[in-house]
Amino acid sequence: MGRVLDALNLRPGWRTRFAPAPTGFLHLGHVVNAIYVWGMARAHDGRVMLRIEDHDRSRCRLEYEQALLDDLDWLGFTPDGGTTAEFRAGASALRQSDNDWRYAAAITALEIRGFIYPCRCSRGDIARLVEDRPSEEMRYPGTCRDSAIPPDASMQRRVKLGPERERFFDLLRGPQEQVPAEQCGDVLVRDRLGQWTYQFAVTVDDLDQQIDVVIRGEDLLASTGRQRALARLMGRKRPLHFMHHPLVRHPGGAKLSKSAGDSGVRELRAAGASAADVIGHAARLAGLQADDAPCAACDVHRFFT
Ligand code: GLU
Repeated sequence: MGRVLDALNLRPGWRTRFAPAPTGFLHLGHVVNAIYVWGMARAHDGRVMLRIEDHDRSRCRLEYEQALLDDLDWLGFTPDGGTTAEFRAGASALRQSDNDWRYAAAITALEIRGFIYPCRCSRGDIARLVEDRPSEEMRYPGTCRDSAIPPDASMQRRVKLGPERERFFDLLRGPQEQVPAEQCGDVLVRDRLGQWTYQFAVTVDDLDQQIDVVIRGEDLLASTGRQRALARLMGRKRPLHFMHHPLVRHPGGAKLSKSAGDSGVRELRAAGASAADVIGHAARLAGLQADDAPCAACDVHRFFT
């Protein structure tokens, strides 16, 4: 891994981030992500920024945020961009619901340059329009792009994306190519409730927190091209690199997040597991070690040297 990172020529103290959404309690899937994030940063002179991704107000709860921070502390994963205690006091880290003004400024800057347009299409409308073109993902066909809808007729906003092919390097998967215009079409940046979308908020945040390497689960691989395209429109100059790691699943194939009951850090804690037991178990599920040998948070760098 060291040689691959050397080739990227990252600055000393390069930044990655841990960015949980407080829509539930911390589970083993988060722990695997934390092992990758802290392991890579500690093994290769990087820093970890904390970000609370609560852009979707209808699903996020403060009680989950507090529990996530508690469990992270208990596990021993300490962010460099604000300790969890400092974060609670309002310093150093980023909570999306406190960052409204930044997203508003970013959308205004794009609007002035003609990249943003109002859209009235519901998901149902789009599904009907593209039903003859089945694809993994629903691609927005651009219905409202040129239809001069008055801005107050809809809360939804989309950003015009060009036809460019996005090429990027994934630290685990090697060179990647995506064409966002073909995958998803013009990206929704604000939804019908006036909430900022994940794709938009995360792109602004990665710029603001000066992130160099995004380390996250492979379920988000398809989002990467569009986030790069958005970041370029917003003026990002510094290259952004990616590492999409495998997700851990239940034996039946279900994602852990969907059924956290038996994989929640709270439950494992209550059953008497130590932090090192939980991390060691998660490392085994992720295929990083052969057995459940305990591993303290301060030792996870050894998986990535
Ligand atoms: N908030 C997302 C999650 O909890 C991570 C998003 C990202 O890393 O871009 O899965």
